[in-house]
Amino acid sequence: MTGTIEIDGSYGEGGGQILRTSLAMSLVTGKPFHIENIRLGRKKPGLLQQHLTAVNASARISQAEVEGNVLGSKKLYFAPKTVKPGRYHFSVKTAGSSTLVLQTVFPALLITHGKSELLLEGGTHNPYAPPFDFLARTYLPIISRMGVKISATLKRHGFYPVGGGRFNISIESTGKLSKINILKRGEIKRQIARAVVAKLPRSIGEREIKRIGDKLMWDRRCLHIEEVTNSAGPGNVLTVEIESEQITEVFTGFGERGLSAERVADKIVLEVKEYLSAGVPVGKYLADQLLIPMVLAGGGTFQTLPLTRHTRTNIEILKQFLNINITSSQLKNNVWQIEVRTK
Ligand code: ATP
Repeated sequence: MTGTIEIDGSYGEGGGQILRTSLAMSLVTGKPFHIENIRLGRKKPGLLQQHLTAVNASARISQAEVEGNVLGSKKLYFAPKTVKPGRYHFSVKTAGSSTLVLQTVFPALLITHGKSELLLEGGTHNPYAPPFDFLARTYLPIISRMGVKISATLKRHGFYPVGGGRFNISIESTGKLSKINILKRGEIKRQIARAVVAKLPRSIGEREIKRIGDKLMWDRRCLHIEEVTNSAGPGNVLTVEIESEQITEVFTGFGERGLSAERVADKIVLEVKEYLSAGVPVGKYLADQLLIPMVLAGGGTFQTLPLTRHTRTNIEILKQFLNINITSSQLKNNVWQIEVRTK
């Protein structure tokens, strides 16, 4: 009988990721955990709708014993049984991020032999969460390279504050992940900026992509606008995709009241320039999200930008669940290398 792992949710970054990483690692190791101070580092601490959906989704796929799974709760006990792949429908009732719900249950389904078909509902394009495009173009292709068959389809965009988005994902696993190393980006093959406008004037998207074209000196053929009509509410998301030989990175910005279309574009331009000049393959968001798959594969190495607090916090939480070595070293000014090794 394994002991219960004690997690302090206010540690380091102090946000929802500590909870999601703990749930994901509990599901893959079968170890129960108890967490206190959930999201104490945030303005509205405790479980929000998105986090509660992630807890309940984790419990569904593993018939877990759970205590404290109510809105606003700052404490939770979670003890999983056996993870079962299958057909599941997880819905965040607010505009909370459905991709973060996926982030929670995904690792367990990756290493459990069998096929899962998931339908996720809620926000699909939220600030401070992986947008669907990042999942589809950046994250999932890397996981596919680790030997799992995956496909994902966006059915409807879900934006803050109305939500109502949905996507399907199918995961077919042999139960094993292969190790990968991501040390080089390779030549850039394609670059695209795409402004999505839903129930808002097209001119917003036109201004955004014009600014991207001007600042990055991109040809008009790289610039696209998509008008979405089937979303439940209005929204605007701007993505810039850098497709290189080894990896595709997606950079995202959101239109909001009081923020000009040009400012939305300018913020992304800074991120893209930082990424391109560092010459690294892995961007700062992918870095924290690659750790769990690499741990499950038993190892891996990647080069990335300076580590975020999310990444550093995630490393510490992972070490509480498994006896693993994760080392980070600075190779150059803006270049870091992370290495995951089983002991
Ligand atoms: P809170 O801390 O309020 O609970 P949260 O639950 O939404 O917030 P965080 O702890 O902030 O979550 O974690 C956000 C996750 O979303 C991280 O894994 C981060 O890498 C990812 N993420 C954030 N922005 C992007 C982005 N633009 N592209 C890809 N991934 C992103």
